[in-house]
Amino acid sequence: SGKSAAQLLSASNIGALLDSVELFLFDCDGVIWKGDKLIDGVPQTLDMLRSKRKKLVFVTNNSTKSRRQYAQKFHSLGISVSEDEIFSSSFAAAMYLMVNNFPQQKKVYVIGGEGILEELQLAGYTGLGGPEDGEKRVQLTSNCLFEHDNSVGAVVVGLDPYINYYKLQYGTLCIRENQGCLFIATNRDALGHMCDLQEWPGAGSMVAAICGSTERDPIVVGKPSTFMMQFLLKKFDISTSKMCMVGDRLDTDILFGQNAGCKTLLVLSGVTTQSNLQHPSNNIQPDYYTSQVFDILKLSGP
Ligand code: PLP
Ligand code: CA
Repeated sequence: SGKSAAQLLSASNIGALLDSVELFLFDCDGVIWKGDKLIDGVPQTLDMLRSKRKKLVFVTNNSTKSRRQYAQKFHSLGISVSEDEIFSSSFAAAMYLMVNNFPQQKKVYVIGGEGILEELQLAGYTGLGGPEDGEKRVQLTSNCLFEHDNSVGAVVVGLDPYINYYKLQYGTLCIRENQGCLFIATNRDALGHMCDLQEWPGAGSMVAAICGSTERDPIVVGKPSTFMMQFLLKKFDISTSKMCMVGDRLDTDILFGQNAGCKTLLVLSGVTTQSNLQHPSNNIQPDYYTSQVFDILKLSGP
């Protein structure tokens, strides 16, 4: 793109950023926390932004928790948030169905975790599958016939550490055989941050399994898709030029913010290094970059 190289956030440009932004969107993993560990200086920085009357929202692609469960996680890390400031991809999947008038009498088959099931239930939908199907096994005999519910009208796929062939067959049959059945992906992240020491396969691998068997492309509701942004725009009557997306990933967070016309700030406390950012093969440039969220407080002075 024609965008110029990212500027290092500094004492001389932070003032203009803070003055021009009314709403900060924060990605979570790599920005607020890493796995279960709080990143240094985050609560103080968020308090400072709140004291300046900035609106804050938290946007995570990790679908394993519901908004309620994320609020608990924030509180346990010493950050005060309300549930309605949290936009998880689990919530986004339920909201996608809601805004598209998905009928309440149709069911939703879930390849994913509790977070998705809880958000579906809160939106008034009946979810099937999820952890409950983790122990199920298929019987492959010469004339096997797998039974599935014909009233399933959507299959939602997110990170599922207990994915198995039973769930693949269930989801595949719904999508291939139920008339008009939707295929929704919470996100397509290649890797997840389930534990501290290693990366593990993310939701992208589960989504790809269903793409493979159905030969369909999913509707993606997580970053960088614009669905959550459109939802946010309806909720907050603020122009995207007065929003700043703060994230650690170029191809999800920064792209998500840029596609909507938000300002963007890359933090190097997660998966992206300064050399990734400056590598000739990278064509996504945020407006600003800095090492971590705490810098917003440190640079903005006493
Ligand atoms: N999906 C999974 C399973 C994860 O573990 C993570 C990060 O921990 C993500 C997605 C990305 O989350 P975020 O958008 O908060 O960086
Ligand atoms: Ca992240």
